[in-house]
Formats: sequence, structure tokens, C-alpha cells
Amino acid sequence: MIRAITSALALFGFLFVSISTLANEGTIAFVGATIIDGTDAEPLEDGVLVVTEGRVRSVGPRSEVTLPAGAEVVDVSGKFIMPGLINAHGHVGATVGLNGNGGYDRANLLRQLGLYARYGVTTVNSLGGDEAAGFQLRNEQFTSGLNRARIYTAGSVVVGDSEQAIRDEVNRNADMGADFIKVRIDDNLGATQKMPRPFFEALVDQAHTRRLPVAVHLYYLDDAKFMLQANADIIAHSIRDLPVDQEFINMVTERGTCYIPTLTREVSTFVYESIPDFFEDPYFLKEVEPAIIEELSTPERMSRIAGSRSAQTYKAQLPTAMENVGTLHNAGIRVAMGTDTGPPARFQGYFEHMEMHMMVDAGMSPLNAIRSSTGVAADCIGMGDIGTLEPGKWGDFSVLTENPADDIRNSHSIESVYIAGNLVPNE
Ligand SMILES: [Zn+2]
Repeated sequence: MIRAITSALALFGFLFVSISTLANEGTIAFVGATIIDGTDAEPLEDGVLVVTEGRVRSVGPRSEVTLPAGAEVVDVSGKFIMPGLINAHGHVGATVGLNGNGGYDRANLLRQLGLYARYGVTTVNSLGGDEAAGFQLRNEQFTSGLNRARIYTAGSVVVGDSEQAIRDEVNRNADMGADFIKVRIDDNLGATQKMPRPFFEALVDQAHTRRLPVAVHLYYLDDAKFMLQANADIIAHSIRDLPVDQEFINMVTERGTCYIPTLTREVSTFVYESIPDFFEDPYFLKEVEPAIIEELSTPERMSRIAGSRSAQTYKAQLPTAMENVGTLHNAGIRVAMGTDTGPPARFQGYFEHMEMHMMVDAGMSPLNAIRSSTGVAADCIGMGDIGTLEPGKWGDFSVLTENPADDIRNSHSIESVYIAGNLVPNE
């Protein structure tokens, strides 16, 4: 009898423990780190971050967060947690090595999304050149099993020879499920012709009819003002011809437009005129094929870039682009991190770190550069469930050994990356 009761109690106890453990299966508590949460808040020392089924369950000081029974505890004392970086302007496409047409397919896209993820870039907003395989990967990512970077897609960069053709192409992208409409208003430093301005007005009108924001590739201040008047939503590159003026600042402020500088895109146009310093950076070398470095280091290639009028113009205008970042940030404009990585020699993952470093060089504080790369970027691209470490958001974040808020170059000290609470594999 006693034995039966004991067994019954033991069984009950076993069941109780099993059920309560089951209730917290897939719950991980990261304990003891300084947490930078991607919001306007100051970093939280000795914090606890609890992730359940891929999403943030709670975050706060160790003294206030109760660890759920059965949670797996990861001791991250003395370390730093920041949200996954969001590249508000990148490309996930056909590049393989230095070949821009190596193949647009699922395997190549997954390779690139893994690469971004290993560098702590947990979301990339692919602004153009996206085909069915990219949309498919976007559709598959809303799961607690994810362990590669998230992708959002714009579809094709819209062009057309009439307003109707433009509207049709916007519709084609919208029907595929695009998150954005991307358009270029640019003459490539005088080498090509821009579409007539009414085409852009038709494009914005059609995109907004389909409830899609418009991201604009541009170069000139005058085009930027025109596109703001036409109600475009996101400025996807720096204004590089002139310093921004008060009229522009007022227009952006009134409309709440986001500005994505893509400073490293400028760097990529001219930096291979000689051997860049980062060719010796272990954080770069850990992911790049030696053959790519070799190819970029050939004297013929370097002298071609040194003699390229467009490369040298972009180089000469980079200080203007950087000055504009500082001016706009100081004026309270939302600046989102973006790089235009993806095309050959714009290195996915590594360049997002370089971009943050350059944003600090342009006058932002390290913490603001991190906000621009996380919470602000999510806000700019309209994705409400990523970018900050707040309850309900996806558990996308990095653990670092050095404090990036002290020195943004500490962003290279990422030790591990989690997406939806899953550890990103090392390769
Ligand atoms: Zn781009």
C-alpha cells in the first residue's frame, strides 16, 4: 500500500516535472550580459534575456526576471548582447565570387543568407534583382526553426518605357508578394539617361495603390527633393553631389522619410585601386576565398580602377556623403544602416560592420550607429517584429565579448549569433 502510494507520488512528481519542463521546452535564458536592446534605452547591465519558441519572452535586470522552470540557462556574464543587424539596403542574388551572374537559385541564396548571419546580420532587405527563389525564402522564414538571415524582397528594379509599363511592372512585383518597390533615378554620373519624371510619379502612385513603400536609388540632391515631392518613402543611397540644405531637411522631417547612406557602396567603387587594409583583417579573411583577394589584387585590375573616372568621382564625393549623414542624423532624421552589399566585391556581412564604423566616423555615437542598424532600421523598413529585444519580437541577436557601445570597432567581437533563438552554425 505504502509502496503503491509512493509510486503514485513518484509518478505524479515525474509527470509534474515533465509537464512543466515541456511547457518551457525551447526556452533559453541568457544570463548576465550587458544588453543593448535596439531601442532608445541605455544598455542594461547584468541583464537576462529569455527566448521562447523563437521569440523574446522577457528581458530585464537579473533581479527582476524570473527564470522559467526548465529553461536552458546560458551564462553570458561579462559579455554583451545586441539585436541582430538589419541591412536596410542589400542584395541577395546571383553573385558567386567576383561573378555577378554565378546563378540565382535557392542554394546560392541560402549560402549568402548564411554568410550574413555569421556576421550578425540577421535581416537583409534585398532591394532589387529578386526572383521567385528569394520570395520563397522570405515566405519560409516566419518559423521558430530559422537559423539563417531573414530576407525581404523588392522584386525587380522597376523600369519601363511608358507610365503604363511602369504601373504594370509595379503590379507584377506586387503580385509576386514584394515588400517594397525599388526604382533608380540616376544618370550614372552622366553616362545614362534617367526616365522622365512623370514616370516616377506614376510609379509611386501605383506602389501606394498596392500599399507598398517606394525605395529610391539616387545621387543628386535635386532628384531627392523631386522624389520627396512625389511621396517616395525611403532614400536608399546618400546624396552625394551636394551638402543637403535646410529645404531638404524640412521635407524629410515633415514626411518622416528614412535615409540609408550606403557609404561602403561608395568605398567599393574605388577601394580596389590599391590593396585595402581590410585584406589583412582576420574578421574579413575568415569568410573570403583567397582567389577573390588574389583577383582583386592584380595590378591590371587596380590600375583600371585608379584610372576610372566614375570610381574617382565617387571617391571624391564620399566626404560629401559622410557629411550629409552627420547633418541629417543631427537634425533628427532617421538614418538606417544599409550597404548595397551583394554585387561582386561588396562583401556581405563584413561591409555591414564597416558601414557602422563609417557612420560613427561620420559623427554618430556608437550606440546610435547600433540603433540605426537595429531598431531604427526595422522601423524604416516597416518590420515590427524584429530590430529590438522586446517581448514578442523574434529572438535575433548577437553575443559579443567586447562592448560595441564603447567602441564601434568592437562589433568585430561577435562570438555567437542567434536567429529566432537558434544558434547560427559556424559554416
Ligand atoms: Zn542596391
